Amino acid sequence: MATLGNRRNTAEIIQKYQFDFRKKYGQNFLVDNSILDKIVEAADITRDDCILEIGPGIGTMTQRLAEKAGRVVAVEIDKNLMPILAETLADYGNVTVLNEDILKVDVGEIARQNGGKPLKVVANLPYYITTPIIMSLLESRAPVRSVTVMVQKEVAERMKVGPGSKEYGALSLAVQYYAKPEIITKAPAACFMPKPKVDSTVVRLSLYEEPPVKVKDESRLFAVIRASFNQRRKTLANGLANAGDLGLNRRQAEEALAAMGLSPQVRGETLTLEQFAELSDRLYEARA
Ligand code: SAM
Repeated sequence: MATLGNRRNTAEIIQKYQFDFRKKYGQNFLVDNSILDKIVEAADITRDDCILEIGPGIGTMTQRLAEKAGRVVAVEIDKNLMPILAETLADYGNVTVLNEDILKVDVGEIARQNGGKPLKVVANLPYYITTPIIMSLLESRAPVRSVTVMVQKEVAERMKVGPGSKEYGALSLAVQYYAKPEIITKAPAACFMPKPKVDSTVVRLSLYEEPPVKVKDESRLFAVIRASFNQRRKTLANGLANAGDLGLNRRQAEEALAAMGLSPQVRGETLTLEQFAELSDRLYEARA
């Protein structure tokens, strides 16, 4: 089987199976060998690794992953791709394809089947559900060592930025709580078939064994972060008081901010992860 990382071989397979690209599944297949090389290199794969690939498409990256890894589990939602993957991956005995929705897959179970060893996740992600996929991978606490993924350029920027930028928000804080994000390379729209309307970026998240900040209650930290960015135009104290699940009033929110030396007018986008951790612990006490 010819490798697929170029326009001609991809078009041939698409034509042979009369495959119709489905927009609703975010199907933009990679047709650029040098970008594929960069993703696989950044994922730092050895024969000891089990890779979880999300959305293998026609198997372009899967072939490369299978050449380097001990095992690859590829989760693809579109059943029309199953006969194609059966052909393109026929030479690779170490690949298992699951015809499932990644948001319904128990990633912890895949790791258990790998003897409990942490997985490395590699994907050219479908853009319509990038954030839910990343968040569920991180929050599930399944053993994952790294996540090397192609995402929309703006999403990669949001993962990486700190306070003071208009891109900074709940995704930045969640990613930075669980992992160290690094930008690997840019990928212009011409690297894909069909061409998407946006530019893309490959980002690698290296997961921490211990989060960089300690909090009394992790779910409260994330409730505070969500409340702080839900109403961007309002002050942080208002956002916190308006979030029903926190059970706080405005005075309690302002007191916690004052104890941290912050103005009652402060906005969520100016606080660091460390400050959110402190605020969450103070509010935990205020409510108790
Ligand atoms: N990896 C291939 C490549 O780089 O050429 C395809 C990448 S394409 C951007 C995204 C892939 O994810 C598509 O094959 C799509 O069908 C699949 N996909 C979309 N939603 C999914 C979901 N919820 N679970 C699993 N796969 C999904």
